Amino acid sequence: MTDRRPELLADAPRRAIAIYAHPDDADVSCGGTLASWAEAGSEVHLVVCARGDKGSSDPTTDVSSLVARRAEETAAAAKLLGLAAVHHLGRLDGEFENDAELRAELVSLIRAIRPAALVCPDPLAVFFGEHYYNHRDHRVVGFAALDAASPAASSPLYFPDSGAPVAVEVAYLSGSLEPTVFVDVGPTIVRKADAILCHKTQLGETGEWFRSVVHERAEEAGRLAGVAYAESFRRIRLGP
Ligand SMILES: [Zn+2]
Repeated sequence: MTDRRPELLADAPRRAIAIYAHPDDADVSCGGTLASWAEAGSEVHLVVCARGDKGSSDPTTDVSSLVARRAEETAAAAKLLGLAAVHHLGRLDGEFENDAELRAELVSLIRAIRPAALVCPDPLAVFFGEHYYNHRDHRVVGFAALDAASPAASSPLYFPDSGAPVAVEVAYLSGSLEPTVFVDVGPTIVRKADAILCHKTQLGETGEWFRSVVHERAEEAGRLAGVAYAESFRRIRLGP
């Protein structure tokens, strides 16, 4: 056991790309961090790989209107967080793979945006206690994002028609069972909750009640980091 306090990230990357599976994933996983970085002057891009087309338990759901509503919800949340842009890749929930086609699209975006930092799900986080295991789309996207950032985006012989190579310096993996760094989200926790509450199609009857859950989760991470509210990440240094 060590009593060394975990590292709190001090600096915001100049540009960042957050790559997630579903329309609400980034807000839940790292919305406070993305808002903090945007506020500090970062250009923060969000990539949403899937349409959110299976995000309903009602079998009579009109899928195309659900997808349209979810895109609107994502745009509203991104505006609250101060994101520079949202890029939708339009995959079907539960039906896409970490294949060359997905990685080529991600490499194109990474090479166009040229981010210093990647934020994505920790694909090794599978089981959370006895009651939840991680959605396969989160695991697929975590590996695809990492594979796209390194070595693909930085290597000229990978996807040579997808832009000039760029070395992403660092990846921050959210939802990790082994977090190594924390971001103080005290100044942005309310906005994070506001952003999550934009996703009305996903809230069902919970509504405003979910706000306290968002705060409690950030308090848990904050206790480990020595601040009121935090988000935690496993950091992987990709650059030289
Ligand atoms: Zn999700």
